[in-house]
Amino acid sequence: MNILIVDDDIVDRKLVKNALCTTTDFHNIFEVSSVSEGLEMSCHHAFDIVLIDYNMPKVNGIEMLIEMRAKPNLGDTAIIMMSSSEDSVLALECIEAGAQDFLSKSDISLRNLNKAILYAKKRFQSEKSSHESYLAVKQLAEQDVLTKLSNRYHFETQVSVMMRSREDNASEMALLALDVDNFKHINDTLGHGIGDSVLKDVALRIDNVLGEHTYFARLGGDEFAVLMTKVTHYDQIQQLSNDIFEQLKAPFCINGKTINCSVSIGSAVFPKDARDFQELLKCADIAMYRSKQLGKNQINYYEALYQEEFNRSFNIQNEMKVIIDESGFRIFYQPVFATETKSIVGFEALIRWPQKETMYTPDEFIPIAEESGLISELGPWIITEAIQQLSVWHKKYDLPLTMAINISPIQLQNEELVTHLLKTIRRCGIAANMIILEITETALFKDNEKITEMITLLSSYGFKIALDDFGTGYSSISHLIDCPIDIVKFDKSMQSSVYEGNKRYKVMEGLSIMLNNLDLTVIAEGIETEEQSNVCKQLHLGYQQGYLLSRPLPAKEVDSLLNSAPALMNYTASPLYSIYSS
Ligand code: C2E
Ligand code: MG
Ligand code: MG
Repeated sequence: MNILIVDDDIVDRKLVKNALCTTTDFHNIFEVSSVSEGLEMSCHHAFDIVLIDYNMPKVNGIEMLIEMRAKPNLGDTAIIMMSSSEDSVLALECIEAGAQDFLSKSDISLRNLNKAILYAKKRFQSEKSSHESYLAVKQLAEQDVLTKLSNRYHFETQVSVMMRSREDNASEMALLALDVDNFKHINDTLGHGIGDSVLKDVALRIDNVLGEHTYFARLGGDEFAVLMTKVTHYDQIQQLSNDIFEQLKAPFCINGKTINCSVSIGSAVFPKDARDFQELLKCADIAMYRSKQLGKNQINYYEALYQEEFNRSFNIQNEMKVIIDESGFRIFYQPVFATETKSIVGFEALIRWPQKETMYTPDEFIPIAEESGLISELGPWIITEAIQQLSVWHKKYDLPLTMAINISPIQLQNEELVTHLLKTIRRCGIAANMIILEITETALFKDNEKITEMITLLSSYGFKIALDDFGTGYSSISHLIDCPIDIVKFDKSMQSSVYEGNKRYKVMEGLSIMLNNLDLTVIAEGIETEEQSNVCKQLHLGYQQGYLLSRPLPAKEVDSLLNSAPALMNYTASPLYSIYSS
């Protein structure tokens, strides 16, 4: 057996050595007089047993014990502590620090020493194997199985410790929350096997660009996080994320498939933005969410302002859920007038927040409904309400009034839209060509093919398609050609101070000639003044809508309008009527 004796007292060392030498077993005995020599020697030799004196002048024996136990495989040796004292508290302290036995020097005899060595060796074997299983469990608990990165739990523990022990106040830490763009789509279309390979490859590529002072983890699903310590300039964060974007530029080739994959990043800084890990991650997530909103594959930084915005939309979303359950939303109807005759030809259904202390405009809550998926409940409800209302007016007034319904791009991606529309018009006895579906140009840019197909299908059933908010986006002419558009709605922003001779007027004039040549019906929105209304007439814009003629109204008020002014509805006088209603 290889045995090391660490004791500053030469007499005691001799005592132990003599005791060991009287056995029949052969021992290879080494002796040193200090902890530093002992540690040094244990680096070069493998010992079966190390006997350490507790009391030594420079460095205490227990320190050597602790140091040995911190080494891989617990230092790979059994340790027996010795002391001239018989103090049981001391003995316990040594056992707790990892010694296998404690011997009082007065008890050292051949018999006792042999017994202690034998037992200590056995004990150490079993401690080592339980330590190994502990390490395996620890690895399982701390490591993400797929990518072998730290998991969320371990990352949080590590980061929290670093936050508490941040020594230099000159530098900050940045947490980057990363989320793989369109990962759900990859998983859904190519399967989970390929999804897993993408995640592994993404992790590997990101890992390639991470240098010193960075910690990388997979938080779950397609979410990753990088902690950067020692951040002195925010440029460092930008630089790292640029490197990440660059790394992910080349497509991934998995099982013969070529997959393009990017990430959206949000960054928050400790201690500027947050006081603990949870808060920091929340801030980074908010910034990441912003990157997604702004078109993905980019980094955004957390700012307190975004937090307010985030809280506000979170509250709106929650309130919306309740209102939907209670059927609490209302619909207002804004009349559309024929320019020539000033007769009402139809309405546009516009959703309204219930009458409450705080109310939100559709411009604010519709995008939230779209992002949160609530539009899939709200959209069909609006369609049902508006068509039912139209059928009431049709029966009551016997006039071919149309109803325009705003359709969100999300609704256009779901085939149920067609079934729901057809079912509702049939149930209410309304012809499809009395329903105008208003679509914004941004919808046509989203998933062009699928949405164009959907619009073509709706058009084939007879629904009229209106391109809403024309003049705000790209006003791409190709959409007018590729899509079965019947009506173009000039956005209200085109109206502000339009008068003959100015540039805006000339643009509107040119567009009107073009649209009229394409046999498209035009509705000018946001008509607030007589002058604007007259411009519509000069430019032969068939229809107009705006506060000058009528604000959006609750159904009851529309009723009194229709009752009180039947002369308004001189349809046949409108030259564009045939296109609008046929
Ligand atoms: P939009 O479809 O372009 O609707 C016209 C907006 O202009 C309406 O705002 C209307 O109240 C407003 N407006 C009408 N005449 C005038 C005017 O003379 N001057 C001015 N300054 N504004 C006028 P609203 O109701 O706040 O709706 C805003 C947007 O929210 C709508 O724009 C539409 O994109 C969306 N939205 C409204 N209701 C719905 C809905 O039921 N479903 C969906 N998906 N979106 C809706
Ligand atoms: Mg509209
Ligand atoms: Mg509009």
